[in-house]
Amino acid sequence: GPGDEVITTPLTFMATVEAIVHAGARPVFADIDPATYNLDPNRVAAAVTPRTRAILPVHLYGRPADLDALGELADLHHVVLIEDACQAHGARWRGRRVGGCGAAGCFSFYPGKNLGGLGDGGMVVTNDADIARHVRALRDHGRMANSKYQHALLGFGERLDALQAAVLAVKLPYVDAWNARRREIAARYRTLLDGAPLTLPAADEETEPVYHQFVVRVDRRDVVRAQLSERGVATGVHYPIPAHRQPACGSFGLPPGSLPAAERAADEIVSLPMYPELSDENVEAVARALRAALAS
Ligand SMILES: *Cc1c(COP(=O)(O)O)cnc(C)c1O
Repeated sequence: GPGDEVITTPLTFMATVEAIVHAGARPVFADIDPATYNLDPNRVAAAVTPRTRAILPVHLYGRPADLDALGELADLHHVVLIEDACQAHGARWRGRRVGGCGAAGCFSFYPGKNLGGLGDGGMVVTNDADIARHVRALRDHGRMANSKYQHALLGFGERLDALQAAVLAVKLPYVDAWNARRREIAARYRTLLDGAPLTLPAADEETEPVYHQFVVRVDRRDVVRAQLSERGVATGVHYPIPAHRQPACGSFGLPPGSLPAAERAADEIVSLPMYPELSDENVEAVARALRAALAS
């Protein structure tokens, strides 16, 4: 609430920041580890103040953030850890599924996610009965459990509708297999792009990532993207403007140069095609096009 601070990453989708601000708190951005694109626990430690109430890591691109280091920091400072697992359905950190490692985990079922509906939806998971009760009330206009007419608080209209739930229930059993295929595609990209003038994603040590995106770093990123586009390969950038540089972040935004690792990444990253239906031939064609674009 008001007066509270939540430490999060600048390299994320704006929804992460919105959640903090809509709760009345203030986002405090800590820089990323340039090797993993996730929150750097040392930077988080330096950002803790007496007003810190939560640490909110994002498992960016489906790669788990360092949940041991961040969890220890949260315990040390008596603040909660809340995971933004919206890009990481099914990913594991040292064997444990993400989303279940902190006080609560948040998932999106936006159609482009690793588990997506046919429209918008999302889920909060928790092992804490009080948080569960509170979130259930919030999603249903603050209604109290077992009472149609009593509202304990003012909430939102964020119920998951039955049509989306039905579609998601059908897709859920396939998620692990789809994620395994994403890892296979990532391994293929690594082999095919070995030695090319670019930076591949960090190795999968300690984690079982789910490659929501396969992100490489290149010089002259926008030129490379344009050349790929000419060769029929669509790419994305997640994200070209770090949250602390967004116009919407006004009073809690930071001047250029404040978070150099995130800012540099934002200028160099490019997301290659990544979805389970990609064929091996597709992946080879993308790698060929990328090598040609880098050589020209
Ligand atoms: C998709 C996403 C969200 C949530 O987006 P919604 O549009 O609310 O479903 C939150 N955080 C991250 C990092 C995301 O990628």
